[in-house]
Order: sequence, then structure tokens, then C-alpha cells
Amino acid sequence: MEQVYLFGGDARHDDARARDKTVVGGKGANLAEMASIGLPVPPGFTITTEECVRYLAEGANFSDQLRADVAAALGHIERAVGKRFGDAADPLLVSVRSGARVSMPGMMDTVLNLGLNDATVVGLAAASGDERFAWDSYRRFIQMYSDVVLGLDHHLFEDALEIVKEDNGFYADVELEADHWQALVGEYKAIVARELGRPFPQDVTEQLWGAIAAVFDSWDSDRAKVYRRLNDIPGDWGTAVNVQAMVFGNMGETSATGVAFTRDPATGERAYYGEWLVNAQGEDVVAGIRTPQYLTRAARERAGAKPLSMEEAMPQAYAELARVFDLLETHYRDMQDIEFTVERGKLFMLQTRSGKRTAKAALKMAVDMVAEGLIDEATAIRRVDPMALDQLLHPTLDPTAPRDVLGKGLPASPGAASGAIVLDADTAERLAGRGDAVILVRVETSPEDIHGMHAARGILTARGGMTSHAAVVARGMGRPCVSGASGLSIDMAARTLKIGGRALKEGDIITLDGATGDIMAGEVPTIEPELVGDFAVLMGWADRHRRMKVRTNAETPADCRMARQFGAEGIGLCRTEHMFFDAKRISAVRQMILAEDESGRRAALAKLLPEQRADFREIFEVMAGLPVTIRLLDPPLHEFLPHGDAEFAELSDAIGVGVDTLKRRAEELHEFNPMLGHRGCRLGITFPEIYEMQARAIFEAACEVAAASGEAVVPEVMIPLVATRRELQILRALVDRVAAQVFAEQGRTLDYLVGTMIELPRAALMAGEIAAEATFFSFGTNDLTQTTLGVSRDDAARFLGPYVEQGIYPRDPFVSLDIDGVGQLVSLAAERGRQTRPEIKLGICGEHGGDPASIAFCEQTGLDYVSASPYRVPIARLAAAQAAL
Ligand code: PEP
Ligand code: MG
Repeated sequence: MEQVYLFGGDARHDDARARDKTVVGGKGANLAEMASIGLPVPPGFTITTEECVRYLAEGANFSDQLRADVAAALGHIERAVGKRFGDAADPLLVSVRSGARVSMPGMMDTVLNLGLNDATVVGLAAASGDERFAWDSYRRFIQMYSDVVLGLDHHLFEDALEIVKEDNGFYADVELEADHWQALVGEYKAIVARELGRPFPQDVTEQLWGAIAAVFDSWDSDRAKVYRRLNDIPGDWGTAVNVQAMVFGNMGETSATGVAFTRDPATGERAYYGEWLVNAQGEDVVAGIRTPQYLTRAARERAGAKPLSMEEAMPQAYAELARVFDLLETHYRDMQDIEFTVERGKLFMLQTRSGKRTAKAALKMAVDMVAEGLIDEATAIRRVDPMALDQLLHPTLDPTAPRDVLGKGLPASPGAASGAIVLDADTAERLAGRGDAVILVRVETSPEDIHGMHAARGILTARGGMTSHAAVVARGMGRPCVSGASGLSIDMAARTLKIGGRALKEGDIITLDGATGDIMAGEVPTIEPELVGDFAVLMGWADRHRRMKVRTNAETPADCRMARQFGAEGIGLCRTEHMFFDAKRISAVRQMILAEDESGRRAALAKLLPEQRADFREIFEVMAGLPVTIRLLDPPLHEFLPHGDAEFAELSDAIGVGVDTLKRRAEELHEFNPMLGHRGCRLGITFPEIYEMQARAIFEAACEVAAASGEAVVPEVMIPLVATRRELQILRALVDRVAAQVFAEQGRTLDYLVGTMIELPRAALMAGEIAAEATFFSFGTNDLTQTTLGVSRDDAARFLGPYVEQGIYPRDPFVSLDIDGVGQLVSLAAERGRQTRPEIKLGICGEHGGDPASIAFCEQTGLDYVSASPYRVPIARLAAAQAAL
């Protein structure tokens, strides 16, 4: 198999490997591709990634075969440009660049102007007629080569350049003349000799192999390794090396260099977009030494800038560039990000790749390109990153507004919000009730803070990770949240806080950016999301292409309405405890929990029944006949206990039981490990009256709504945390009994389902038996992850970061399903469940139901639906379509 592929000149580009990114890297494949469609690409060759892998594995050796192939390939470049490598009269110069399968910007090495030495620099000056250019190129080469290949500190060279400028009273590089550069070359060579104890290599072949080795070696540089880890790039891919004839954008006023996009990467507008510089080499544009100019006249005029655009200054080269843009778009059928150089009026293409874009631009381009006939709907669906939609669904900070950043936490729930700092949930609710915008700031949140979180515009916590209570609840509510801000400390007594060393107090205005984790002082203006136009069009296509249904996790009518606007096709998880935590009901809930006996509990439950019935009625109304899965009470009783003297006193007043009695009961109910304690169906087994009340509330509400609307209401009653068939058998009988009673009282019957969550490993293993009692399974992968990994959802943030960094888990397993481990339990349970009951309905309602990678797994496993928090519904719709394509 060949390891060196030619491109440009008279090269044939018919070998599929020559255009295969896995073989020749992204840059090499696109250079060959551009050359093959007749675009002006300077001739060159690519050494494969396979050769890199071999080189790194076999101890940095080049084979004789490779040396011979490279020599022959160099001959190809020499013939194509009519110059010889190392020719003292008119030398060929080359660039040597890395190019992995995917672009790893700035991670690996590049050497330009290779082939210069003390003899060829004179030839270059003569052939180009430009002494200054020749000596400037030589000193650039020595500097780059010394840095990249010889490992010398580039500061040594920069300092020497600064001294020349100072001695001559110059400010900018452009002021240096040929003899200054020539003198500097002498200086640079002296530095190399002094630092290395040997002269700068004059043999151009030695230079070339040094650069090739350096590019291969750079694959294993520390920064490349870090980048790969952060971007999930395997270490065994290797990089290709591209050797290409140099073209010069720094040959005077008719030469230039630039970068451009075929459409605006920020807005998606169909307008060329880019920057260029006259008389410059590529790195000048990127390095920011000179300010690049606008590409088009329209862009220049819009910005009110003076220096001429390329369209005006070099109309011919620009027209050629515009033609190339169009050709590239038609060829690649995607927006391209391009590097080009103009050498003495002639355009050359140095690179093209699919351009990075904002979510807004991605949508617009995908929809526009279907209209233009460039791509089909399926391609458009694949083009948009579902997670990027998040940027579009929440108000976002105005990108042009100034920010005074105080500190940073985890980007736990996207969106942006400004408001006054409030340190407790009650105050947040009170102030929001009178119309104030508040940000709830807590060390960490607990279920009792729900009302304050709901009232707040945003939530900031000092502790907790991406699946902490604050994060999960905030995402569910669509509240922006920054969690785990370690630079935040709160003094509750003084009602003050510090963020990143700056002192603030309750009432001060701050702004949160839930997409980046930034915490800012003062108010930063926001912009509202738009769910129409391109967004609606793409979502419509996604809906046509997906198989799985998308439901939502929601329990308030407001969230249900929002989820429906986002396209939810039902409720997959209504967590009834969120209704129990309601500030107005908490006394009755606590009375129920702390009651000494069943009759005490029943008295308190009687107060809750009408409230729950009203909750369910409203939800059934909003959901208008769509399926609604209601989960009976799940959280540990422990979580409802009052804290602190004030709460005990308040409760004592409300229910007329002495504080001491209440405290004793609370002591009895205290649990060391509440998550594995008295929760889920265990509540229903031990205190059946709780589930009876809830079932009654559900069926009464369903009957009322069915009677009023004439529409079918099909409640799906879900039993949490089941481990055994017997648990479900007992509780299903309870639900059936209550249903029969209610139907008899109301004089009507309704269809309903009783199912269970699969959220314990035992339940997954025993799914075949459990399915005998369940008409549906909903995978509660939050608990299933916690119990399978033996990792607490609420405490994992402390160590999961390092775990993910060290590749122990590829991603946070509470965010993206651990497919290898937890995924096996899901597949196995699905299979065993179907064996017992082929028509069993299968869904997922853990946080993973809104994660694209997990959704793809759900599609493969054949689940019927995924259920996600309201703001994740569009993400899930798109991800489900991508998974089905
Ligand atoms: C789960 O465990 O995945 C689930 C959805 O239930 P909760 O998050 O309420 O425990
Ligand atoms: Mg659970």
C-alpha cells in the first residue's frame, strides 16, 4: 500500500486512499480533492497517518522505501513548479504541515519556507528580484525551524529581533530593510550554534527529514495529548504530513494572504466572509500583528472601515476567489473554511474544510441548502448538532454587551439571567412575588428550595456538579444555573458573599451565563429565543424522520405547556413529590410523615387529596389526551423532615403537636443513607394510604377531565424503585382497587396503565418476571447509574471530574449513559421484558433521555420513547431523528 500520495501538478487523484481522511488526514484529503476538481493548489505530497503510527511505534525510524518515495514525490513538485529543491540559483521552497483526520487547531507543528540556506537565499533574492523578501523569509524559516524541529526557545529569536528594532528606532517589522534582515539571519545562526553547539543545518534534505520527524513527533506532544483527551480523539490515529510548494503572499503589493468562509459562520447568511492582508504570510493574519482587512466591499462599508477590501483592491484575484468559493460549496455541499494566498496576482488555495458555525448559522445553512438543492432533508438533519440547539432555546446574553466577570462555576443549566442576589428560597419567592428579578444563591440546594428556585430567574450554588439537585431541577424548570462555583463563599449571618475575592451583599445585581458558567457583576442585556423560521422547519423534518416518541419530564402546568410548545408528545415522568414540596402544602406533608399512626397519616392525606387532584386535573387538561405518566411518591421521607427550631415551631403551630414530640419523631425517621432508604415503592408498601391517596387523586382528576372534555384521558401510573415482582404485584393491586372504587363512584370507567421504573440492577435482571405485572417500563437511568456504579448522584461531582479527565469514564455517566455498563442492564431488561410481554411499552426518563449519545443508544435498543426536561425536548427530537437515519 502506498504511503506517499501526490497532489497538484500532473498528479492523478484517482486512488481512493489519496482522498481518504483516515489515510492522508483532513488537510491532505481536501488538498487532493481540490486539485482533482481543477482548483489552483500548489503541488505537493502527503505522507500517510499510517506511516506516522509506524514511526512512533518503531522508534523514530524512516524506512528506505519511504526515503525513496519522498525523493520521488519531491521530483513531482520540482517538475510542476519548474524549480529544484536546494538549487542555489532558483530554489524550490516547501511548507511542511501536520494534518490529522480531524483538525486539531494549533496543536501540531508547521514549518514554512523550508529549503533556504546561505546559498539558496541568494538565489531566491535574485529570482524574485526582492532581497528584502528573501532575507525576511530566511530568518522566518530559521526561527520556525529552530523552534519546531531543534527545540530552541522562540524567545531567543524574538529578543534578537527586538534588539535590532530598538537599535534602529523601528516600531514595526515592516520598517526593517533587506540588510537588517540579513544581519538578523547572522544573529539567528549564531544563536543556534551557541545553544546547540552545532550550526543551523544547511543541507536541505536534512532540513526536510527533520521537519517530517518533528510533525510526526508532535502527535505525541503534551498539548496534543490534552487536546485529544478533551475532544475524544483516539491516540492511535496519528497525523499525516503535507509537503507542499511554497507560494508567497509577502512578495509585495500584488501579493496577499487570507482566510475566508463561504457563508457567514455567525449568522449563516449567504455572503462571503473573511479577512485578508496585503503583502503578508499566513501567520501574520492569525498572529494579530497587523489588523486584517475586510474581504468584501459590502462588509467594509457596513463596518465603516477605510482600508480597501480585497474585492476593491484586487478585483481579479477576488473574482477568481469568488468562483472558487462557489465551486467548493457545490462540490462539498457545505460551508467551507478556506485559506488562500495570492502570489503576484495569482490565487492559490492552501486549505479547505467544513467551517465551524454557531447554532443559528447551522440551522440557517441547513435549511437554506435544502432550498438551494445542495443537500437533502436527511443531510440537513445530520448537519445540526442537537446540543447546539440549547443556545437557541434560552435567552442568551447579548454578545456585544460588556461583561464584568466575577468568577466561574459549572455550566449546569443553559440560559442567561440577571437579578438581585437572594440567599434563601422564601425570600426569593417573596421578592419574586412582588415582581423582582432575583437570583437564588445557595451553598447547595435541597428539595425544600424548589419554590425559591422556581421563583428565581437563575440559580447559583457553591457546591454540586452537573447532576446535583440544583442542576437537575434547574434544567427541568429551564432556569439558568451555575453550580459548583468553588470561588463562592456565603456568610449567611451577615447576608453577604464573596465571589472570586469580590465582596457582594444580598440585593446586589448579578448575571449568570448558564452556558459558560460565568458569573458577572451587574446586569448584562439578553436576547430572546425564536422558535419559528428555520428552527421550526428543521424540527418538522426531524419529526418526519424519527421513530421514537419524545415526551417530557414535567409536573407543573407551566412546564407542561412549555414542553408542548417545544413539541413534547406526552409526559414521561411527572414527579409527584415536587407537588409535595410546595411551600403551601409542606405542613400537611410533614404532618403526614411525622404522624404516629395510620389514622394520623390519613388525616393529613385528606388535606392533600384535593390539592393533588387539582394538580392532575390541570396537567390532564394541558396535555389534552396525550399520554401522561405519573409516578407515585418516590423520595425518602427523610427529605421532608423539618430542619432547625424555627421550622419545628412553625409546624407545631400549624398542626397542634408539641415540638418535643415532633423532634422525637423526626429523630426516628432520620436515615443514614436516605437514597437507599425508605423511599420509592417502599413507601407504598409500608404506608399504603399515601399511594391510595395519590391513585385516587389521579383517577378522580382523569374522570373529571374526561367528563368535561369528552376526550380520552389515559393515565399511566408508575411505581418507582421496584426491585421485585412481589412489590409491584402488591402495589398494582392497590392501584386497581382504588381505580375500581373511583370508577364506581363516578359512574364511568377509563383505560389506564400500571407500570414501573427500572432503576435498580435487580429490577433489570428480573425484568422478565416484573413484566408480568407491568404494562410499561420506564428506565430511571439516574438511579440505575447510581446503583450500578455505586456512585452517589449527589456527591459524585467531587471526584467525577478527575475520573473523566483520566479516562476512567469517557463522560460524566450521569450526563451520558454508561453504555458499556448500565447500557447492558437496559438492553437486557428490554429484552427480558419483551419476552414476557411482547407489546410492553419501553421508555427512558432519566436525565439521559435528553442526551444525544444516550438517545442513539435508546434507538438501537428499540425503546418506544425518550422523556426529557422541557428545554431538552427539541434536542431529543433532533437526536432521535439522527439516530433513526
Ligand atoms: C431516575 O432515577 O432516573 C429517575 C428518572 O427518577 P429520579 O431522578 O426522580 O430519581
Ligand atoms: Mg429515580
